[in-house]
Order: sequence, then C-alpha cells, then structure tokens
Amino acid sequence: MTRNLVLILGDQLSLQSSAWDGFDAEIDRVWMAENDEEATHVWSHQYRLVAFFSPMRHFRDAVVKAGFTIDYHELTDNPRKAKGCSFSSILSASITEHLPEKIVVLQPGDYRVQESLVACCRDRGVPLEIREDRDFYCTSQRFAEWAKGRKSMVLESFYHVMRAEHDVLMERKNEPVGGQWNFDKDNRKKFPKSGPGDVPSPPKFEPDTITREVMRMVAKRFAKHPGSPEGFDLPVTREQAVIYLNDFVHYRLAKFGDYQDAMWEGTRFLYHSRLSNAMNLHLLSAKEVVEAVVNAYFAGLAPLGAVEGFVRQVIGWREYVRGIYWHHMPEYQTRNSLDCNIDEDVPSFFWDGKTEMACVRDSMRLLINTSYAHHIQRLMVLGLYSQLSGVHPYAFHNWHMAMYADAIDWVSLPNTLGMSQHGDAGLMATKPYCASGNYIDGMSNYCGKCKYKPRQATGDDACPFTTMYWDFLDRHQATFKKNTRMLLQIKNVERKDSAEMEAIRIRAKKIRDGKIKV
Ligand code: FAD
Ligand code: SF4
Repeated sequence: MTRNLVLILGDQLSLQSSAWDGFDAEIDRVWMAENDEEATHVWSHQYRLVAFFSPMRHFRDAVVKAGFTIDYHELTDNPRKAKGCSFSSILSASITEHLPEKIVVLQPGDYRVQESLVACCRDRGVPLEIREDRDFYCTSQRFAEWAKGRKSMVLESFYHVMRAEHDVLMERKNEPVGGQWNFDKDNRKKFPKSGPGDVPSPPKFEPDTITREVMRMVAKRFAKHPGSPEGFDLPVTREQAVIYLNDFVHYRLAKFGDYQDAMWEGTRFLYHSRLSNAMNLHLLSAKEVVEAVVNAYFAGLAPLGAVEGFVRQVIGWREYVRGIYWHHMPEYQTRNSLDCNIDEDVPSFFWDGKTEMACVRDSMRLLINTSYAHHIQRLMVLGLYSQLSGVHPYAFHNWHMAMYADAIDWVSLPNTLGMSQHGDAGLMATKPYCASGNYIDGMSNYCGKCKYKPRQATGDDACPFTTMYWDFLDRHQATFKKNTRMLLQIKNVERKDSAEMEAIRIRAKKIRDGKIKV
C-alpha cells in the first residue's frame, strides 16, 4: 500500500518542484512512464522524441541517486510491445499494483493530458491532487485577476506588472532600470553585408550510453517518423543545462538584442539561447535563467538592451502565453477566426524541406537537423507561409508540435494558433503578423540566393510570399477593415490596379492548390 503515488511527467524533470513537497520515501512512491500515446499523438520528429526520453531516463537515475525508489516504465525498441501503451492504461495498472491513497502531480503542460489523468483517477476512484507549478512567475489565478474585464490583453502591460511584482530589473517601485521598460527600438538590427561572422556556438553534448540507447530505440520503434535522432546534442541533465545557460550568458547574450530578428543562410542558433528546451522540461527554472541574465547586466557582461530584451521574452511572452492557454482552454484550441478550411494542412515541404524558396528551405534545413528554428524563422517564414496560404491554425499547431523539440501544448498552441496564425481574432496579437517577401529580404540574405524576387507579386519569378500576401489581405478585407492597425495595409490593397490584383488572385490560388510548385 502506498500513500501518495507522485507522477513526474516528461516535462517536469525537477527535484525542486512542488510535486515533491512533503514527499516521504517510506510511504510515497515516484512514477514515470514513457508511452506510445505521447510519442504518436502528433507525428513526432525523431530528434524531438530523444529530447524527451533521454532527459527522462537521466532524471530517473537522479531520483534513484537521491535515494528514492521509482516506478519507471521504459519503451523498448520492439513496437509489438506497443499494446496497452497509453498513458492512462499504464497508470491504471500501477494503481492496481500499488493501491495508492492519492495521486499527486504538478500541473501538466497539456490540457489533454490533464483531462486523461482526471478521467483515469475518477474511473479508478483515487483522489487526484494537482499542484501549482512554482517554476513560473504567474499562477493561473494571478493571470485571471489581471485578465479580468480586459477586452484586449496586451503583452506590454502584463510584462510591466510581472516585472514590478517580481522586482526584476527595477530601480524602485514602478521605475525600471535605465528609465524605460522596453529597448526594442535599439534592438532588431540586420547583419552587415558580410554576414554575422563567427558566432560562438553553444556547447555540444556528445550522447552518453543512455542517450545512445534512446537514439537506437527511437530510430527503430519510430522509424517512419520525420527526421532522425542523429546529431542530437541538447542538454539532457540539469548539470548540462546549467553549463548551457552559463555559456549563453557569457558568449551570446550581449548581442542577443541586436540580432534577435536577423536571419542568415546556413547558420544555426546565431545569438539565440536555445534554452527553451531545458526550461520547458524544468531542467532549468525560468527564474534562475532570468536571474543569471540580470546578473550578467550588473556584472557588465551584457548591455541593458540585450538583457531587457531577453527578460521580456521569458517574464513577458513565456508567462503570457501560459496564462492565455490555461485561461482559455479548452475552447481556445477550436478557434479559427479567419475561417480556414479544416482540411487545409501544411504543405509537403514543411516535412521534407524540398522547395525552391530559399528562406523556407533554410529554415527547414535547421528544423529537420536540430528540431529547432529560431523565433523569426517560426513566425515570419514558416508561420507566415502557413498563414498566407490558409492552413488551418490547428493543423499548423499539430505540425509544430511534431517538429520542434521545445513544443509542449501550453506554449505551442497560443504561439501557433494565436500569435502566428491570428486564429484567435487578435487575443494574442492585436494585428496579424502578415508581410510580403520584402520583410524577409530586409532581415536576411535569403532573397539574394533565391529563384524568386521578393518585390514581384506576379509572373513566374514572383515571390510566393508577396503574391500570397496581397491575396491574403484581399481575401480578408472585410475582417481587417474593422481593425484600425490594419487600415494602411488595406488601403494599399485597394490602391492596386484591378488587372494586377486579378493576376495575383489567380497565381495565389494556384500556389495554394499546389498547381504551381514553389
Ligand atoms: P531565445 O530567442 O533565446 O529566447 C529566449 C527565451 O524566451 C526562449 O528560450 C523562450 O523560453 C522564451 N520565449 C521567447 N518568445 C517566446 C514566446 N513567444 N513564447 C514562449 N516563450 C518565449 N517556444 C517554446 O518554448 N515552445 C514552443 O512550442 C513554441 N512555439 C512557437 C511557435 C511559433 C509559431 C512561434 C512564433 C514561437 C514559438 N515559441 C515557442 C516561442 C519562441 O519562438 C521559442 O521559445 C524560441 O524560438 C526558442 O528558442 P531559444 O531558446 O533560442 O529562444
Ligand atoms: Fe523567401 Fe521570397 Fe525571398 Fe525567396 S524571394 S527567399 S521565397 S522571401
């Protein structure tokens, strides 16, 4: 007989979380399970699967090292053993085996998983205690208080509240360090013509025995899934994650602000931290990441613009998307404010990268090889293509969940369906992030190496982004006219010559229908 069966989900790999509060090794038991359901509910990239399973197995060993017994369910490379491998069937069998008085779990990062846990415990008549995740700055309750009565939930005002309440980069009450909240106007530069030069690479962690075993298992059991586990080099333990954080703070943070929106063909992580994985798995807490970055400012390692820019991503955007998710689920996932066709899925080159568009091809190269692309490649290349071509926002989210190592429902859904696809009618972002190929040309060297011309909207050489941008504005004119922030863009469509507009519509439809291969 067990008092508490304490579940540690695959993205909850911390010995400090509230799931451990009051844990007594004599009478409580830890439980973890790799399972097919979580690996296959989206068609997960093989690299992504390693990014979950290897840290889980390393965490299992850390739990044992800490002196606790653990009930750990491992997937083998034999797919025939898949039977009964759903999360709730494994849990239900463990309930029969251990007869716990209660199940304890940290709040899951996925509404679907939470629902399945609730249902399983209800069916088995075992009480379930879901504990608050203190790795985040903002609780669901605090977010609900902030959101109450607001028609529009603007990130900037939420961010100020978070910084003031948690005393991050503050001089004194309501006085931010440096006299301003936001240094964005000094950030977001493009690289010089000569390119980014030598950007210090993040550390590479050679796969150890556990990781190699996971890579073998994934390559065999999930052989038909996209990508490959080869080249896997992410941190898989807390110790490695701390090394990763320190490396970022010392070698790349100083230029993070300047180049956070810039892109350059053939590069990898540029000045981005690549820390989302470690944070989302709880190998690092968001609070320690923010503290390390703020300390770097006071130690003179990085300018205020870079530090504030990074802090805003974590205390602002990361907390804000989580707030939106729990405040609006489950209804949020059904939103489709631009009325996209439910059957409209991502194009085939979103899986294999086979396209003539240099910007998409390069973003896909990075994504296929590392299960990563940085924010602007996600938002203003792949997300933009999907939005302009009318992919259903939930299909885009599903694809994103499959391809990115850092994708977990709470963070992927608001970013994809909301911020990127404008499927939530502007709750996340007051206007759609829509642009023509000119934006990509301004922030990268892609267009110079492309078959297409970013300024051209019609003809065989026309940039597909530019063609579809005008067509997108044209198709949604009636909706966007109601949004004052879109008026200028709508005026520009209205000014277009009607013959040109007709040619744009025809070409855009052919691209969307796959009749013109791009
Ligand atoms: P950096 O550029 O170094 O930024 C620092 C940190 O800020 C990130 O590690 C991340 O923790 C946080 N951050 C920045 N922007 C956001 C944001 N919009 N939402 C949440 N956190 C943010 N991030 C995920 O962690 N998982 C996702 O599934 C995810 N899906 C996204 C989908 C789309 C369409 C877009 C546009 C963004 C998405 N993001 C997601 C946010 C952001 O793109 C990634 O966090 C970031 O690219 C991860 O790389 P990095 O660690 O190098 O980030
Ligand atoms: Fe991308 Fe268009 Fe530029 Fe080609 S021309 S790289 S498709 S934006």
